Amino acid sequence: MNIQFKSIIELREMLDNKSISITELTQESFLLAKKYDELNCFVTMNEEVGQKKADAADSNNKNSSMLFGIPLAQKDLFCTENLRTTCSSKILSNFIPPYTATAVKKLEDAGSITIGKTNMDEFAMGSSNETSFFGNVHNPWKKGYVPGGSSGGSAAAVAAGIVPAATGTDTGGSIRQPAAHCGITGLKPTYGRVSRWGMIAFASSLDQAGPLARTAEDCAILLNSMSGYDSKDTTSLNSDVPDFLANINQPIDGLKIGIIKEFNLSDLDSEVQARFEESKKTYEKLGAKFIEVSLPNISASVPTYYSIAPAECSSNLSRFDGVRFGHRAKNTTDLNDLYIKSRSEGFGDEVKRRILIGTYALSAGYYDAYYKKAQQVRRLIKNDFDQVFQSVDVLMTPTSPNTAFEFGSKGTQNPVELYLEDLFTISSNLAGLPAISIPHGQVNSLPVGLQLIGNFLKEDQLLNTAHLFQKNSDFHLAQPSLEDFS
Ligand code: GLN
Repeated sequence: MNIQFKSIIELREMLDNKSISITELTQESFLLAKKYDELNCFVTMNEEVGQKKADAADSNNKNSSMLFGIPLAQKDLFCTENLRTTCSSKILSNFIPPYTATAVKKLEDAGSITIGKTNMDEFAMGSSNETSFFGNVHNPWKKGYVPGGSSGGSAAAVAAGIVPAATGTDTGGSIRQPAAHCGITGLKPTYGRVSRWGMIAFASSLDQAGPLARTAEDCAILLNSMSGYDSKDTTSLNSDVPDFLANINQPIDGLKIGIIKEFNLSDLDSEVQARFEESKKTYEKLGAKFIEVSLPNISASVPTYYSIAPAECSSNLSRFDGVRFGHRAKNTTDLNDLYIKSRSEGFGDEVKRRILIGTYALSAGYYDAYYKKAQQVRRLIKNDFDQVFQSVDVLMTPTSPNTAFEFGSKGTQNPVELYLEDLFTISSNLAGLPAISIPHGQVNSLPVGLQLIGNFLKEDQLLNTAHLFQKNSDFHLAQPSLEDFS
């Protein structure tokens, strides 16, 4: 039974009408993961435990959840009990957590089966998956090209049809940008919508977990389970969780979509621009209206983010010292030497760069000039969004300024080249707002993503707007041939 490229909704139907068992479905998913091993999507597989859970689920099939028996992959940044969790870093390469992150636990409690942990940029710092200790992930659409990052393994596993959906995290674009480069759908929820408990922290005031899947409908299914208040996360929102799937498929006649004046799209590749104009027409046909809006401070997003994120990372990553977790250097002379050698050996270059920048930005003499100033600018950006959402319902931008690029072609001489990949995605993290990327065509046989940004807690509206696009187009159905990988 072929399960490759099937959505959760399709797999649910196959399970419900008994054309496949949960055991068989899980086996197929593991077989696909092996067949496409060369993509390098996975850091650790969960074969024994996953298959056992599947077998047990077949004999105790009472759960009515949409996710019951559905294979999923988890970004290797979520702690998983008794299953290695590395954050794609050498320093955690032997870390086996004693507990499972709330977001993953909720998906597993709904009956889904974790088949493995996906490759990522080290500690989620990157936009190309090239900073992983476990090697590059290939873009399923083109060998030797990046899948995007940092949730590159999750995006590639979904795009290759190994699993129908996967978890990711997004601090500055790490769900949406890889979703765009791999031709799938990815949602970053409102900050606080999904618990951060058990997620290995990068920049705590920006990190948020969310789903990557083939369709907006499937993202809604995952979000239904992942969301909700968690007393273990002090920034978790205690607000109602609507049924995101039930709210999908509402007409969008009269929907006001804002186009951000400050993003000068004429600087982009003409084909990327052309796709954007086409998608505007699709929405116009559905009854939406376009309004140009101004967010005067949005051009400060990238430098603001690259002050705040490294500052928070330098603090969060201080816990990895060779004493309590992961890699410990050998032949050290004293405790200080142990810290220095373990951290020097354990972290990769990009992580070290961020720790150095962040430590500097937080140091007594510079705190006000960098971290405090960046937080003030962040407030101005948030105010800009509050202002425009008084006159529009959603905002629309490209997800990324370009399509996927070749390994080693960006950021090797100047890291800022890679930082600019997040030009369109970072501002919604700074403002804590939900945003989604959906595929909307291809340029030179590589997928292009369209981003929709929603108002606070308006994931339902975003998912609905994305779903209507997918109902009226077939870009999300495109499949990579994968002939170079098996
Ligand atoms: N590319 C951005 C960075 O390197 C965002 C990463 C993310 O969202 N985790 O910081």
